[in-house]
Amino acid sequence: MASRVIPVEPFDLVIFGGTGDLARRKIWPALFRRFVAGQIEGDVRLIGAARGEMDSAGFRDVVQEAIVEFGGEESRRKANLSAFIKMLSYVTLDARGEAGWVELAKLMRPDRIRAFYFSVAPSLFGDLAKRLHKHGMADDTSRIVVEKPFGRDLESARDLNRVLARHFDESQIYRIDHYLGKETVQNLMAIRFGNVLFEPLWNSQYVDHIQITVAESVGVGGRGDYYDKSGAMRDMVQNHMMQLLCLIAMEPPAKFDPDAVRDEKLKVIRALDPVRGADVVRGQYEAQGDKADYRTQVEDPDSTTESFIALKALVSNWRWAGTPFYLRTGKRLRDRASEIAVVFKDAPHSIFGADAGRHRNILTIRLQPNEGIELGVTIKEPGPGGMRLIDVPLDMTFAEALGPEDADFPDAYERLIMDVIRGNQTLFMRGDEVEAAWAWTDPIIADWEAGASEPLPYISGSSGPDEALMLMHRDGRRWREIKP
Ligand code: NAD
Repeated sequence: MASRVIPVEPFDLVIFGGTGDLARRKIWPALFRRFVAGQIEGDVRLIGAARGEMDSAGFRDVVQEAIVEFGGEESRRKANLSAFIKMLSYVTLDARGEAGWVELAKLMRPDRIRAFYFSVAPSLFGDLAKRLHKHGMADDTSRIVVEKPFGRDLESARDLNRVLARHFDESQIYRIDHYLGKETVQNLMAIRFGNVLFEPLWNSQYVDHIQITVAESVGVGGRGDYYDKSGAMRDMVQNHMMQLLCLIAMEPPAKFDPDAVRDEKLKVIRALDPVRGADVVRGQYEAQGDKADYRTQVEDPDSTTESFIALKALVSNWRWAGTPFYLRTGKRLRDRASEIAVVFKDAPHSIFGADAGRHRNILTIRLQPNEGIELGVTIKEPGPGGMRLIDVPLDMTFAEALGPEDADFPDAYERLIMDVIRGNQTLFMRGDEVEAAWAWTDPIIADWEAGASEPLPYISGSSGPDEALMLMHRDGRRWREIKP
């Protein structure tokens, strides 16, 4: 059964940095796919604005090439592509100067939804906001979209929030965390709050612990210099993994509306205990076979930036007291696999005796690859051999359950950009959430910097430093295997 696509209202969307890497790989292909799906139609203007000198015809070629490269199957149908390309125009513009702004203002129509995507370095956010205001484009109905990284610590995040707040209200600011646009992540909320089965068990009485893993098999590649300035804590934990933790740990909001959801997420971040030294492990990958050492891929040969992190987080509130959240992320790990595992406690008493072994229910939310949700249940092993127990998955791999048509999920960017046009901020981070997340991570990073701590080496293709295994062994637990 195919889901019904409701077209959004007509809009004018400006992509600042419309010729950059992110725009070419994600934003234009996402818009194209929504166009093909029938969600974008009619009188829509899509405007690229960037520093490079070119005309609209040249720009259309740039976008066309990007869509053919990154847009998937649909982009091979020429009719679709040429109809989409007609909606595009380009303005050469300098965020820091006056060039191009009057021309851009002329392209914007007063009776349309206006959205401005800041796909440029955060150092330009203030300039863009100021000039949008000066040229009359920052009215009450306009929206701005900003990309990560949103600051590199609490102070810089506060500065960015302040700069944007000079010209835009919080209700107009959409801070993207593309993890929140993933279908499975939203399904996590549907599973929790749409079923009676899970919520009564969703607390420290029944949940032993939670593991969140975001493992990449690739290294920093050509992005070494960018990555080396941030590291796993800033690049993954402060934003994406904190968001996942919040969705697991939050109280049920009264309504599925932007502020109700974000208020609950914020309470979780504020309830996090400070992380103690022994509860966090940082690592950096070493060469293995033809795989290069981290330090040879970045400018600084003595870099102490971490490419791996594992930590134990405690949410100090009634629901979660005593149930740790273990987070782990890294590059050059054994496989590419991201999942959240909610590991339930043992049954309070086993009627089957010691021979039956130890069995636990685990709810696994797989983000990649093969998005889906799996609930491990214990059953009797078939056959006449007595009461032997085994664990089997109640598998809810969406592609199988829903059929190929409905399981062809929109990419996170498709959903999020459409939410901007619809004016729905539920899946975007609020300014106070981002600040609270930095307030939690800043002291951990400051500790490393004060102690000039070196990350622990780990072999490329492994599951990280041994100390990360110890982090769980100490508590009588172990990480789930990283497998795709
Ligand atoms: P990029 O360097 O490839 O592109 C930058 C774009 O900004 C270009 O179109 C350039 O012309 C434009 N630009 C630069 N200076 C300008 C100025 N003064 N006035 C007008 N336009 C100007 O960068 P990118 O990789 O596309 O990243 C853009 C933003 O998105 C950054 O904040 C980055 O951190 C963030 N981001 C990127 C990725 C990614 O995968 N590339 C992922 C997440 C977040």
